[in-house]
Amino acid sequence: MPGFELFGQAERTHVNDVLDNGVLMRYGFDGMRNGHWKSKELEVELQNTLKTSYVQLVSSGTAAVSVALAAAGIGAGDEVIMPTFTFVASFEAIMMVGAIPVLVDIDDTLGLDPMAVKAAITSKTKAVMVVQMCGSMAHMDALCKVCEENNILLIEDACQAIGGSYNNKPLGSIGDLGCFSFDFVKTITCGEGGAVVTNNKDYYMNSDHFSDHGHDHVGSDRGAESHPFLGYNFRISELHAAVGLAQVKRLPEFLGIQRHNYTVLRTALSQIPEVTFRTVPNGGEESYAFLNFFLPDLESSRRASKALKEAGIDGCFHYYDNNWHYIRKWEHLKEMKSLFPISKELKEGLSYLESTDFSQSDRYIGRNISCLIKLSWTEDELKKRADKMVDVIKRVI
Ligand SMILES: *Cc1c(COP(=O)(O)O)cnc(C)c1O
Repeated sequence: MPGFELFGQAERTHVNDVLDNGVLMRYGFDGMRNGHWKSKELEVELQNTLKTSYVQLVSSGTAAVSVALAAAGIGAGDEVIMPTFTFVASFEAIMMVGAIPVLVDIDDTLGLDPMAVKAAITSKTKAVMVVQMCGSMAHMDALCKVCEENNILLIEDACQAIGGSYNNKPLGSIGDLGCFSFDFVKTITCGEGGAVVTNNKDYYMNSDHFSDHGHDHVGSDRGAESHPFLGYNFRISELHAAVGLAQVKRLPEFLGIQRHNYTVLRTALSQIPEVTFRTVPNGGEESYAFLNFFLPDLESSRRASKALKEAGIDGCFHYYDNNWHYIRKWEHLKEMKSLFPISKELKEGLSYLESTDFSQSDRYIGRNISCLIKLSWTEDELKKRADKMVDVIKRVI
């Protein structure tokens, strides 16, 4: 997954364009720029890559999710359904706009279980936030249907899935709004950065204004711009966009390497009868950012995770036992350890977390090992890694 492994002259050239004219901000200063509009150019590149009408760059993936929720008018007291397996940014963003995150089980895609989503819908549900974890996707047809039938929005967090697709639609372009991250460990990076994508002009205009203090961006005099509504600062800088502009042009190359490396590891592991792989829905094409597989039970997965580490195989995660991506270890959420007071409504809205049974998610995450696909492995390293992984896993199951 990490685009940070491969960068060089193209990134430097774009960054130097920005430094040479000194305009580090994406808006205004038209006369000083020598025609360099890195953020705007990156937005156009992303529109083409993601086949969406509108792209708004922002400062991070977390900002993208926050802006997407705000742009869709989601706020205090609204419920947003999200998966138990994701990144903490999902509930952070939902809570930031004052809405209530409703965590529900995943299925063998490692994405939201459409049945669990259906069961969690109440009169307060405004959106479902599907998270396309580790480069693959949930059962999107079923989720789209549930959302349509219940008249709720589908927000797609595709921060980990640029380059994946479903029925030939890029992941991130299927929901009403899609979100991307270009942080340092994503497939392409800006250092820090993110994007909101949509085909809906209103959501786009809202994102454009909201991410820049509510500025309407009409005319070229920033002081004369009006504020149709309140906003915040989630802007990306030109320096970050410059790096991203070089990276996005290399996306097909990155995806090709990812796919090759993934395939070598998967083919090797397929020899082991006890190893199964996450379900990719029919019509789905992974981005191949991670290889996710299941072992027979929690204990064999624990043994495998430990043994892989001991054998020097880095980048294989057992999310059940780490704090990163799974509800089991999110004490700060479950105990609502907020630095500042949170509303009574939100507190009450989160109280379900103490009593809800997430054993369905435990069954998948407990047995899952998730291996980051690096782009810098040589063929020799890749082959050795594959052989070693097979040896280790055979030994511990
Ligand atoms: C990385 C990530 C984010 C947040 O992105 P940042 O740019 O790090 O803020 C959100 N959701 C998922 C699924 C991610 O992997």
